[in-house]
Amino acid sequence: MDTAHVLATDPEIGRDAYTYHGHQGRMPVVIIGGDLSDPGERRAVVAHELAHHELGHTTDHTASRFREAAMVALGAAVVAAFTASLLAGLLLAASAATAYLTGQAIHRAQELDADQVAADALDAAGMDGPGLSIAALAAAPPDPRWIRWGGWVLSGHPTLRVRMARLAR
Ligand SMILES: [Zn+2]
Repeated sequence: MDTAHVLATDPEIGRDAYTYHGHQGRMPVVIIGGDLSDPGERRAVVAHELAHHELGHTTDHTASRFREAAMVALGAAVVAAFTASLLAGLLLAASAATAYLTGQAIHRAQELDADQVAADALDAAGMDGPGLSIAALAAAPPDPRWIRWGGWVLSGHPTLRVRMARLAR
């Protein structure tokens, strides 16, 4: 991927990676974990992070807003349960859960979109995009069982199995 960016390694974050916007007009900054030592994995992970930039995810706060709204509704639910009625509290708690799950679903969709754009970008650069991306995901520590058995609905990340299956199509 030839998008200009600043790349740095953080030995503290293992196999994680993240990205943020440089100041106005500056290049995206990508930080990758020190445990990503394989060049193919690094390429796949950097391409995924740059795809988040290309797709505007680093400046789109919709998912965060839903999660913030969930926290506000949860607080209101507790207050309502004690001061108004249990029913009002339960309704507010249900709204909080809905808002939270919506935020996580938006985030999961963004991850799958970033995987696809990254694979396409690597392909365009003459590499096997899906192959590199799938290999990087396959080398990641497996998802915990509770995530695989439905807990993913609470997570902002799709399961590795879903991400690899999408890339394999
Ligand atoms: Zn991502």
